[in-house]
Amino acid sequence: MHILSGKEVSKAVYADLHARTASFIKTYGYAPTLAVVLVGSDPASQSYVRSKKKACIELGFGHQDYVVPETITQLELVNLVKRLNQDSSVHGILVQMPLPSHLDSNEVIETIDPHKDVDGFHPISVGKLLIGLPTFVSCTPLGVVAMLDHYQIETASKHVVIIGRSNIVGKPLAALLMQKGRDATVTVCHSRTRDLSSLTLTADILIAAMGKPLFVTPSMVKEGAVVIDVGINRIEDPSDPRGYRLVGDVDYAGVSPHCSAITPVPGGVGVMTIAMLMKNTLQAAEQLADKDTL
Ligand code: NAD
Repeated sequence: MHILSGKEVSKAVYADLHARTASFIKTYGYAPTLAVVLVGSDPASQSYVRSKKKACIELGFGHQDYVVPETITQLELVNLVKRLNQDSSVHGILVQMPLPSHLDSNEVIETIDPHKDVDGFHPISVGKLLIGLPTFVSCTPLGVVAMLDHYQIETASKHVVIIGRSNIVGKPLAALLMQKGRDATVTVCHSRTRDLSSLTLTADILIAAMGKPLFVTPSMVKEGAVVIDVGINRIEDPSDPRGYRLVGDVDYAGVSPHCSAITPVPGGVGVMTIAMLMKNTLQAAEQLADKDTL
């Protein structure tokens, strides 16, 4: 059984990004810059935003943080995004989700200029992905595919079963893997899927993205399958100083002896997401710079 290490893959991605960033800065005289908008003070969102800022600093990217109160109105938030669209020193825009319930996240996402949509959530980005055009792709699915590529795990003609149909993981991942060139046969399962095990047992590559701790057990996995665990869940653990530990959607201890390769949690897919955000931001800066020089 092979452990697919997000740390190892992200190290290779960052090495490439460092080189490309240095070359970008030398050519254009400014750094790729990410603007992150955080509404309110949710601790998990604050932590994600801190990690993104840290990655920007490490790569020599510019970063602009907009921390706005939870009481911000829809109009004020949309106007902030519009200002960032107009700001030529900003190349990527990310509005940290989820937003407080009084705000309409769809409208906010649709306001982001698709050229700066480094999260890949804009309907134009999602539509282009579906029809196989180059576009920004949501970072976690991109991270999964980068891991498969790094470890040379063939997807062509393989049956990939994805558990989860969210707009940020399951659906874009299905779209990526079924495209010409990747050529997987993809089954997407969700909370209303009947007899889930009968489907997961047919998976050559099983991807769990459901947010249910340790849900995937050995009896759900075909012998020799590749298992990708996207889930990140906190479970109580009095022996841990934090009082909790992180686990995936897969019962790693039980499943790993039966598969050919598996991602751990932590240290698997989670590490890849921010690396892919940085990659998308650099790509946005490169594309915008190319547009300016036309
Ligand atoms: P979500 O809640 O939006 O979607 C969960 C999906 O799982 C839904 O489509 C639902 O239908 C399906 N599901 C739930 N219970 C099910 C069941 N019993 N059987 C079959 N399907 C079921 O979640 P999400 O945002 O897609 O995130 C999924 C998991 O991935 C979470 O643990 C989240 O923390 C993690 N995540 C990790 C990263 C990362 O950086 N690695 C990024 C995003 C999400």
